[in-house]
Amino acid sequence: MFVELIDRLRCPHAHADTWLVAAATRTAHRHLIEATLGCPECGAEFEIRDGEVWFGARVECVAMPATELTAMRAAALLKLEERGLYLLDGGWGSLAGALREIVDADVILADPPSAVASESASGSAPALSAGQGTLLGIGNRWPIASASLHGLALDRATPERTADAVRLLRAGGRLVAPARVALPAGVRELARDDRHWVAETVGNVVGLRRAKWRAE
Ligand SMILES: [Zn+2]
Repeated sequence: MFVELIDRLRCPHAHADTWLVAAATRTAHRHLIEATLGCPECGAEFEIRDGEVWFGARVECVAMPATELTAMRAAALLKLEERGLYLLDGGWGSLAGALREIVDADVILADPPSAVASESASGSAPALSAGQGTLLGIGNRWPIASASLHGLALDRATPERTADAVRLLRAGGRLVAPARVALPAGVRELARDDRHWVAETVGNVVGLRRAKWRAE
């Protein structure tokens, strides 16, 4: 786990957003290899083993073909920008290496396919590249700070995960999800085909102000 991405992690339990405090026993090249992340609010602890952060039991997924075409398509859907932060859920993790060859963006992999995860764990270049981290065992609440991502590509799109994904996105951030999934509140659809839709977050600041004026 790239050390600067630790700042973006939050306790997934149901309480106010809380930073996680890292106690590392082994680090390398600005990556935490062996460490414990502790929640000061509820006392929960999450282990980092072989550079990967464990929030629960491993979740399997189907890998995506990492071709130049699929990577270009994903980069366009996510509107990949240099130094932006993107989350690739499940099978999308197959594209991490190819995407980072297109644009130098920071990438968090959530429960990537086993092949991608073991590649990371082996300590080969992709895992230890700056600006990349892998989270495993993610449930219905994302362990990520609100409004921290430029884009998120969803694979395991339960209604809870899809709704919570909107919370993670900055204003104008992109959400990509399977076409069968209903659009969550807080985003506007930009395009869709038979496989995926892409949407962007709509600012709710105006809406809140209007509600307040009405109340006064
Ligand atoms: Zn907690």
